[in-house]
Amino acid sequence: MHENSLNEILNGEKAQQLKAEMNSGLGSANCQYCYDIEATGNESKRTLNLKKYSLPKNADETIIKYLDIRFSNQCNFACRTCMPSASTSWYQDATILSRGKFIDPGVVKPTKVDQELFDQLDQHVHTLEEVYFAGGEPLQESNHYEFLDKLLEKERTDIRLLYTTNFSSLRFKTKKVTDYWNQFKTVNVNLSLDDFGIRGEYIRKGLKYKTFVENLKTLRKESPHVKVSIATAVSLLNVFSLPDFLLHLSEELQFKSNQVTLDFVFDPDLYSIRVLPAALKDQLKAKYQTAVIPENFRYHLDKVISYLDLEDHSFLWNKFISYTKALDQIRSESILDFIPDYKEAFSEKK
Ligand code: SF4
Repeated sequence: MHENSLNEILNGEKAQQLKAEMNSGLGSANCQYCYDIEATGNESKRTLNLKKYSLPKNADETIIKYLDIRFSNQCNFACRTCMPSASTSWYQDATILSRGKFIDPGVVKPTKVDQELFDQLDQHVHTLEEVYFAGGEPLQESNHYEFLDKLLEKERTDIRLLYTTNFSSLRFKTKKVTDYWNQFKTVNVNLSLDDFGIRGEYIRKGLKYKTFVENLKTLRKESPHVKVSIATAVSLLNVFSLPDFLLHLSEELQFKSNQVTLDFVFDPDLYSIRVLPAALKDQLKAKYQTAVIPENFRYHLDKVISYLDLEDHSFLWNKFISYTKALDQIRSESILDFIPDYKEAFSEKK
């Protein structure tokens, strides 16, 4: 949107090509991640959304029913599986890791001037059914609150709000997000959490697990109509502890199995669970087979195994090791304090 307006993009060549590919039934290479999930017999975002939204009567018509908006890459976390394009807190480590090649681009936003974005979105508010806020960290972004103020001004409290948040705070300056959420009829909040306790804090730098749990209690008390779920990015960093984590979500945080969603990290590619060497894959499968978790959570583990077996990316294993060691050194941490399963691999000289 730095070069073209939203309407130009919606009616532009690339959008037309995408529509043609989908209408022809051949599909698009851009949707490969969803096709991979569907190949494991599971629902993808694509199939879920196809059920949720009716197609426009006129195939040439372009209306926005669902808006996925990221106001900036401003974020107070630097999760290991994230990157500078999605989090400003990654800039420092990225500069060291790249030996100065990474140049701080400042806060990245969709348009040069915020007002431009609001003016362009304004024309589409009347057709919106659902807005998805992600980031950066949406709850720590002033434009997110400004946009909600605009929806309230237009009395569009019927629009469904959907979030993915690191849930580090329910407050931003003078704003309290539950005061907003309590005015909207439908609010769904995906809390990003990849593990609990100190292991979770290792994966998601910036996470204070105790605060996360306190915020969850506050939300459940102050905004009981808000539907909360856990969004877990499955990677090499949590795949071995996943059974313990699922047990914790069920028993300690009182989540039901259908309130937990697993997504597979594929970018950065070196964190994908498909990178595991064969011996560790076998070790993981054996661990899952004997794992003690509630029976209705077990399908999550089956999904992991199906995804794991679809392709082999173990050629990236050494890259994962050297990258992790480098980041551990910068952050004064050690993966072996959290994932003993990798002891042998990380102890070998590379
Ligand atoms: S909270 Fe989200 S945007 Fe921020 S670093 Fe973590 S994954 Fe990236």
